[in-house]
Amino acid sequence: MNIIIAGGDGFCGWPTALYLSKQGHDVSIIDNMARRKWDEELKSNSITPIADLKERVEKWKELTGKEIRTYEGDLNHYDFLKEVLRQERPDAFVHFAEQRSAPYSMIDREHAIFTQVNNVVGTLNVLYGIKEMVPDCHLIKLGTMGEYGTPNIPIEEGYLEVEHKGRKDVLPYPKQPGSFYHLSKVHDSHNIMFTCKIWGIRATDLNQGVVYGLDTEETQMDPILANRLDYDGVFGTALNRFIIQSTVGHDLTVYGKGGQTRGFLNIKDTVRCIEIAAENPADKGEFRVFNQFTEEFSVLDLANKVQKVAQEEGFNTDVAHLDNPRVELEDHFFHAENTKLRDLGLEPHLLTDEVIREILRTVMNHKDRVIEENVLPSVTWK
Ligand code: NAD
Repeated sequence: MNIIIAGGDGFCGWPTALYLSKQGHDVSIIDNMARRKWDEELKSNSITPIADLKERVEKWKELTGKEIRTYEGDLNHYDFLKEVLRQERPDAFVHFAEQRSAPYSMIDREHAIFTQVNNVVGTLNVLYGIKEMVPDCHLIKLGTMGEYGTPNIPIEEGYLEVEHKGRKDVLPYPKQPGSFYHLSKVHDSHNIMFTCKIWGIRATDLNQGVVYGLDTEETQMDPILANRLDYDGVFGTALNRFIIQSTVGHDLTVYGKGGQTRGFLNIKDTVRCIEIAAENPADKGEFRVFNQFTEEFSVLDLANKVQKVAQEEGFNTDVAHLDNPRVELEDHFFHAENTKLRDLGLEPHLLTDEVIREILRTVMNHKDRVIEENVLPSVTWK
C-alpha cells in the first residue's frame, strides 16, 4: 500500500513509518518540524538525541535499501497538502500531525487558539484533500482516550446504545474532554464523522491511550534512527516521565492523589495498531472508532511500579504528591472497552518490570541531557 504518515518525525509517527516501510509498504512522511520548534520555545529537548529527518531516512535507506520520501510542510497549507496527495495518491493517510500536549494548550489564550487551529484546520484540510484528490483513501486518525473523560459508566468504542423514553438508538459516546487539546480531538472526531456521512469518506478514529516506551526493533537498528523521548512537565507523559525522573534523582511527580486512571500502551503496539487499521480499512462512509490501549493503570500504580524497579537498579526514589495543576477527578471509576483491535490480531506487549527496566537503562545512557528545571509542571488549568 502507499501510506502517508503525517507527523512522521514525531514520537509515534517515526517508529510507525519505519515499521510500515519494513513490512513492505511504500511510505512517505509529511511533517512541518513543529515539534522541534516547540522544544526551542520551551527551552526543552528530547532526552535521546534525535537526528534530523533527512539524516534519519538516509540511514534507513542505507541499512534496508528502502526509501521513505519526505515532504516538509504544514497540513494547514492546503496547496502543499493537495500537491503531496497528487504525487503520492495514497491508499491510507495516517494522521499523527497535531499539537498533542494538554499543558501546552492550556498555557494561555494564544496556545489554546494555536492548538485548536493547528489541529482542527489541519484535519479539515486532510478531509477536503481526500475528498478532492483521493476519495477512496482510508483516513487513519489519531484521537485520544482523553476525548471520553472519566464517566461513571464503562467507556465503549465510539458508540453507546441508548434507550430513552421508550426508544433506542446507537449514538456517539458522550465526550467530556479535560483540556483545549483534548477538545481539539473531539472537534476533529465530529468533523470526520460528518464527512464520512456526507461525502462517503472512509475513516478510522484511533482513540489512543498514553503511549510509553521509545524503541521498536527498527529504531534500535542505529543511533541515527533513535526515537524522541519527552520528560518535561509540558510534553512528558506519565510513566516515561517517571522513569526519567527516577534516573536523575528526582521525586516521581504524582499530581494530587494519583487515583487518575487511564489506558496505556507500549509504542511497539502503537505501530502494530496502525498496521492493523491500514490492512483492514473502514468501509466507504464508515466512521469507525477503536480504543487503542492495552492496559489500565492509575498514575499512583505507575509511580509505585517505577519506584520498585528503580530501587532494584540502585536509585533511591520517592513518590511526591504535588498539588494537581489540572482540574480533574483524582479518584474515580474507569473502565474502557478495547476488544476491536485485539479481535483484528493485536497481541499486546504488557507492562512488566522488565519493560520498565529496559526503558530505564536506555534513559540512563542520556541522563546528562535532562534539563532539571523543566521537569516540574509549570502550567496550571486555572
Ligand atoms: P509528537 O508531537 O511527537 O508528533 C507529532 C508530529 O506532528 C510532530 O513531528 C510535529 O512536528 C508534527 N506536526 C504537528 N502539527 C503539524 C502540522 N500542522 N503539519 C505538519 N506536521 C505537524 O506527538 P506524538 O506523541 O507522536 O503523538 C502523535 C499523535 O498521537 C497526536 O495526534 C497525539 O494527539 C496522538 N496521541 C499521542 C499519545 C501519546 O502518548 N504520545 C497518546 C494519545 C494520542
